[in-house]
Amino acid sequence: MSTTTKDISREKSAELFEKAKQYFPGGVNSPVRAFKSVYGTPLFIERGDKAHLWDADGNEFIDFCCSWGPLILGHNNDNIREAVTAQLSKGLSFGAPTQLENKLAELILSNNKHIEKIRFVSSGTEAVMSAIRLARGYTKRDKIVKFEGCYHGHSDSLLVKAGSGLVTFGETSSAGVPQAFAAETIVIALNDREALQEVFSTYKDEIAAVIIEGIPANNGLLIQDKDYVQYLRQITKDNGALLIFDEVITGFRLGFNGAATYYDIQPDILTYGKIIGGGMPVGAYGASNEIMAHISPDGGVYQAGTLSGNPVAMAAGIAALSILAQPGFYERLEEVTTAFVNELRQYIQEKGYGVKIFTVGSIFWFAFTDQEHIKRADEIDPASMEKYKVMHRALLNKGIYFGPSGYEVGFISHAHTAEDINTAIKAIKESLDIVY
Ligand code: PLP
Repeated sequence: MSTTTKDISREKSAELFEKAKQYFPGGVNSPVRAFKSVYGTPLFIERGDKAHLWDADGNEFIDFCCSWGPLILGHNNDNIREAVTAQLSKGLSFGAPTQLENKLAELILSNNKHIEKIRFVSSGTEAVMSAIRLARGYTKRDKIVKFEGCYHGHSDSLLVKAGSGLVTFGETSSAGVPQAFAAETIVIALNDREALQEVFSTYKDEIAAVIIEGIPANNGLLIQDKDYVQYLRQITKDNGALLIFDEVITGFRLGFNGAATYYDIQPDILTYGKIIGGGMPVGAYGASNEIMAHISPDGGVYQAGTLSGNPVAMAAGIAALSILAQPGFYERLEEVTTAFVNELRQYIQEKGYGVKIFTVGSIFWFAFTDQEHIKRADEIDPASMEKYKVMHRALLNKGIYFGPSGYEVGFISHAHTAEDINTAIKAIKESLDIVY
């Protein structure tokens, strides 16, 4: 164990947090931001540029949280900023169709082989909530199967054994979700074929859909085996249930075709968010023409939104995806991530530290464990989060910003330069020395 570093100043952030507590429950507008499971007061961010963030006290960080995933191009990307600025002078919202919606849809649909039609909404939560309603309306069945540790936003039927903020706070369900709603949600463990078989033999003909995160990334990074996901595809098909792939994190992070192509399967409904809005609030769901025909106004499944397809958000999304569609974009990002992870893995091995770094595409997760694989939520030792807490504090002191929870994954963006990566590697090594 080496000595700890001096803490950065959080005076201004602490002052702002005290004020925020007068206005917002817990002082925040989304729970994990409250820094409850890591050291100190939450940092109030002033601005971001490329891979860097500055807080209210003037501290500078290299950002690996990237607003929880949307910022695959980093902060203040020139193209996105220019597109948004140009749209601002034309209008913020019309509540009527615009060409921009067509353009973003075209960019997505012509580069994504898994969906034929799409509907834009304003958040990932809305996208998944609508996908569930669509699955129920289409199959005329009520029950949903989800996996322990998968987070799909905060709609009622999905806040049952979810990951993200819920696991961070040591809870697996939310107060205020009617028992009758929760009763329609069956929760099983990931990577467990028998559990799937049992659920389908018990509730045959009642299950509308099984929903899974493309690659579960809200309760650590729980990379599933390809043959397990293919089995999941088969058993849903055999039982007339739909498979919903929640690609709010993995969509356009692992390429335009996301995790569905990674596992080589065709889900029935896919949900998106984060990256497709270029940093603005957007979500989307899509499926075949046949399934999407069930959505209003032509179909009987109602779903609407005052700000759906918002022109500023569409402009940001178009600018972002136009860059992502360029040849070699994802290959480069993955190369950078692999080199980053490999160098750290080598150091960890040399030192004999009990840390694993799990990674896919440009997503990574530090797990304080000796296990070679973690594929289920219950394989994570909650006590290991104490080590994350120590690492997180040390990293902030060295100018590296990771998400304020050991259950959350990190992201590498196109804006991370070789210098950023090298600085981060050095800081992470030193922080691990502090942990051990
Ligand atoms: N689905 C997944 C896989 C997510 O990771 C999230 C958010 O982190 C959501 C849905 C909800 O998205 P939003 O926070 O935009 O409502």
